[in-house]
Amino acid sequence: MNQIVRSAILGIWSLAALPAEDLVLNHFTLIDGTGKPPLSDAAMVVTDGRIAWVGPSVRLKAPAGAQNVDLSGKFIMPGIIDTHTHLAASVDLVQDPKLYTRETVEQQLRQYASYGVTSVVSLGSDQDLIFALREEQRGTRPKMARIFTAGRGFSAVGGYPPAPAGTQKVQFEVGNPEDVRKDIAWLADRHVDLVKFWYDDHLGTDKKLSLDLAKDIIHDAHDKGLKVVAHIFYLQDAKDLANAGLNGLAHSVRDKPIDAELISIMKSHNCIQMAATLTRELSTFVFSQPDPMLDDPFLQSGVSPKTLGTLKSSEYQMKVAAGMDAKHGREWLSMAQKNLKALSDAGIKIGFGTDSGMPGRIQGYFEHVELELMAGAGLTPIEVITDATKNTSEFLGVSKDLGTLEKAKWADLLVLGKNPLDNIRNTRTIEAVYIAGNKVN
Ligand SMILES: [Zn+2]
Repeated sequence: MNQIVRSAILGIWSLAALPAEDLVLNHFTLIDGTGKPPLSDAAMVVTDGRIAWVGPSVRLKAPAGAQNVDLSGKFIMPGIIDTHTHLAASVDLVQDPKLYTRETVEQQLRQYASYGVTSVVSLGSDQDLIFALREEQRGTRPKMARIFTAGRGFSAVGGYPPAPAGTQKVQFEVGNPEDVRKDIAWLADRHVDLVKFWYDDHLGTDKKLSLDLAKDIIHDAHDKGLKVVAHIFYLQDAKDLANAGLNGLAHSVRDKPIDAELISIMKSHNCIQMAATLTRELSTFVFSQPDPMLDDPFLQSGVSPKTLGTLKSSEYQMKVAAGMDAKHGREWLSMAQKNLKALSDAGIKIGFGTDSGMPGRIQGYFEHVELELMAGAGLTPIEVITDATKNTSEFLGVSKDLGTLEKAKWADLLVLGKNPLDNIRNTRTIEAVYIAGNKVN
């Protein structure tokens, strides 16, 4: 039933129960996110945005009056859940806290949705507005990506990451256990979805949080029932933090190959590789030259003409090439890929995250590149899709509602023209995106 008819009914019979809105998707191949083999000629009944039934088309009992969509030859997979993004952290390659507005956040959420990224975790760079926006969405059927947030992340006083001009006070800079206790209480009052801290000295150029304060963050957050994730770089730090009870690594270990000790610590403390952020490494060097990516229409639909012009300019490319991380980026990417494969082989749970939203990390587009780089690391397409859907929803504690295409969950999904299990690049063949049963693109 369309919106106008529904509104009319609501207007005329506002006291009567609103009739259910039924949508039937039919004759597609189902990749449900559980990791099970695909089901060909599948059908799905979506009632008021949630999956009421899904199974073989021959067993479909379509509700009377349902809207029917024939998807013969198409593929359906769950919406992508990115656990490491930064909302409104930059616009047109510029970081400026004044850009953190409702308009920017919502524009970026719509962009994510149009690329099939139906849920995002904004990881530690948010202003207070995020809580109101998240509240507005919850309990509704959003028309843009679902918001999850870590609110404000923690760093050492004057520590890494250095706040770009004007962004001071966005992260919590903590110097003692009292600061930590007060700030964790502030975050808990706002029901953040995760707690995030940075634990890095950026190759010795910045100040790192002390291990004692990191342990305080983990301990105090756990007391409030919150999971904690950390930006890490070094193998030793990953071990120390996992030993202290950290729930997830928000980047890959990039200084050394991971070893049996890390695997054993992560297993015994149930710490997952929440986000490998391979595209974060790629971003350190890929735009230091006229990369063919810049001519990809799938990228171009995610950037303004102004940004595209800048990315293609030799001045910008020289600036990227001169960046401190550019000369290490290729090694870090390759190390991160090897470590991802080793952790996956060892049975460590892998999530999905890109670090998109910072300058040059294109929201929506980079998620598809991340999937490709994960497959390039040696994970199979079905593993990669499961990591980016089921595993992320479980880590966020929302698998009752999101992550897989099973009965009772929200119909957050992508309709693809080609099979992503044949080639993970086929996640880019998006023909439609649905969030809670509404077509959003
Ligand atoms: Zn980040």
